[in-house]
Amino acid sequence: MSEEKKPTPITMKEVQAKAEEKKCPLQQTLVFIEEFLAEPMCGRCFPCSFGSYEARIRIKKIADGTATDEDIARLKRISSNMLEASMCKKGKDTAKFIAEKIESGEYIGHIGKECSSKECITFFEYIIIPDKCTSCGICRDVCKDNAITGEKRKPYLSGYLPFEIAQKRCTKCGECIKVCPEEAIEFISISAEKEPAGV
Ligand code: SF4
Ligand code: SF4
Ligand code: SF4
Repeated sequence: MSEEKKPTPITMKEVQAKAEEKKCPLQQTLVFIEEFLAEPMCGRCFPCSFGSYEARIRIKKIADGTATDEDIARLKRISSNMLEASMCKKGKDTAKFIAEKIESGEYIGHIGKECSSKECITFFEYIIIPDKCTSCGICRDVCKDNAITGEKRKPYLSGYLPFEIAQKRCTKCGECIKVCPEEAIEFISISAEKEPAGV
């Protein structure tokens, strides 16, 4: 009977390359830490074994828009403790990656629900611009989540239901924006939308 071959563990270089496929420093760190934690944790050094789990929780909070400045401060402390106390290169590289990305300054913007790369989708939503929409219905046909409502316009009817996206149903898959022939769908920042006009 042939022995099953064990999968080769991913190297730290590969982890870094995978993380850097993302543009947003926060998403990069999330990919990095998820990959680091995907393998069984050896748990030899407390600041690494405990810190990496806590770092993942704090990074997810920032990406979800529920974090405060304290979460960033805590991440800084975690990375610094990990860097100092980690016994292996793997732990030290992870700590360095977290620290470098915090220094990029993008984390602070995320506390205000901003992501310049538009990769933290919680901070954005798809909307239909009524003035551009011709009510063709193509977007509604591609939406697998039934998040788009509206009636196709009929020349002999004056009243019709305009096309709209129900934000609670929308999973932000982005399929509708690809098919709209009028470029009537936009992916906009929630924080910019809430700013008073003229600011
Ligand atoms: S630093 Fe290395 S040895 Fe220590 S817990 Fe992390 S992975 Fe294990
Ligand atoms: S595809 Fe575009 S133009 Fe057609 S209904 Fe949807 S938003 Fe309106
Ligand atoms: S982004 Fe996806 S889920 Fe949301 S309205 Fe468009 S097609 Fe539907």
